[in-house]
Amino acid sequence: MGEMMQEEFKNFLSTFQYKDGELRQMSSDRYMLASTTWLTDLQQEIENIIGPDGAYAVFETASKSGGQTTSEGPTFAALFAGMSLEERVKFIMKYGQFQGWGPHEVVEYSSDPFRVVVRSPRPYIGKAYKGKADGPRCYYQVGLTNVIQALANIDKRALTLQFTETKCVAKGDPYCEYVFEVKTDD
Ligand SMILES: [Zn+2]
Repeated sequence: MGEMMQEEFKNFLSTFQYKDGELRQMSSDRYMLASTTWLTDLQQEIENIIGPDGAYAVFETASKSGGQTTSEGPTFAALFAGMSLEERVKFIMKYGQFQGWGPHEVVEYSSDPFRVVVRSPRPYIGKAYKGKADGPRCYYQVGLTNVIQALANIDKRALTLQFTETKCVAKGDPYCEYVFEVKTDD
């Protein structure tokens, strides 16, 4: 990590509040450091029991409610004061990187109709599947739909987004690619 990034990372860490063994940031939600091996094992065991579609459904529900909780926190909107929606979306991807989710680059941004494409070369889940998965596996990223919707909602812009993972390291692609776009009826 370059010096600039180290400095930004320190600033990021200073946004956490620590009290009595509990860590909180941006929202009233509680955070903790968790091993990616544990998270990966958890996902793979869920897949073994109810299959990839079932596992996706579980993560979709849980991740969306996680995204919702984050965006309802008392300091969420204040964090993005003075930024355009595009700047907010790019900011949140960088923020996620400091949280340990790996680099996330916005490679395409369109405001109307709203469409964002994000590329991630090193998702934590990737190495567990060794490129052999039969489909994308970054289920947890669906939670970003709620976060992006909340970022738009700061300007009272109501967006209903759908999430598609078009490329995934888990199935052998060189990077993961996530598309967030306006939901269609079909
Ligand atoms: Zn992926």
